Amino acid sequence: MTSPAPANSETTPRPPPITLFGGTFDPVHFGHLRVAQDTAAALKLPEIRFVPSQSPVHRGRPGASADARLAMLKLAVADLPGLAVDDCELSRESASYTITTLEAFRAKYPAAPLIWLIGVDAFLKIQSWHRASELFDFAHFVVLNRPGFATANVFSAALAPVWQGRATADARLLLNELSGRIYLQTVAPQAVSATEIRNMLRSGAADGAFASLLPNAVLSYIRAHRIYLD
Ligand code: ATP
Repeated sequence: MTSPAPANSETTPRPPPITLFGGTFDPVHFGHLRVAQDTAAALKLPEIRFVPSQSPVHRGRPGASADARLAMLKLAVADLPGLAVDDCELSRESASYTITTLEAFRAKYPAAPLIWLIGVDAFLKIQSWHRASELFDFAHFVVLNRPGFATANVFSAALAPVWQGRATADARLLLNELSGRIYLQTVAPQAVSATEIRNMLRSGAADGAFASLLPNAVLSYIRAHRIYLD
């Protein structure tokens, strides 16, 4: 005879994961939106929250203000179910460190898995992040392929201190455990970058040139507010 499972046993379902996609989003483009949608579908994530950073510590000043980047993100996700925008980093006084954001989410959602989405280009620099070794105490990292950056480098010898003991090919662990895994999610490759878009805007490209790069509503906002023309 089998005895009933005790309360709070391993069979107790966890709350759904909280998934965050951080970045400058200067501006948000179809690369961001499509890789997020692909990942949500593949991993059955109920929601992905875009988290624009205030004053990026790994790069120069953004071309658009925080308010403008936030407004463009809101326009971009308005008609896309499952995608949302979270301005937590913009409303914070201190520097925009990912670890601070993760600490805040963990405090608010103690029982939910936390997932941080990140492109392979950004992940390859993760050792330079503030309190890098603690990041995995708070979240899983789901790494997305991006044209021009080899995903094999995620598991290189140089990054071994980061991925050893954390890399997994089992997506179920992202939902069953709270944090600590590194998972490679293959998405449809998106050959688009915000740098390319800013350069095109500066050089006076016509609207049609942006059709496959970013949503119309975002382009209209950029035109109306004359951003990225310097
Ligand atoms: P920039 O060209 O200004 O560096 P970006 O296009 O890389 O900008 P970010 O806002 O810096 O955009 O990126 C936020 C996150 O989205 C990062 O983790 C980045 O790796 C990821 N990302 C951006 N574009 C793509 C893409 N085309 N495919 C996959 N991941 C992407």
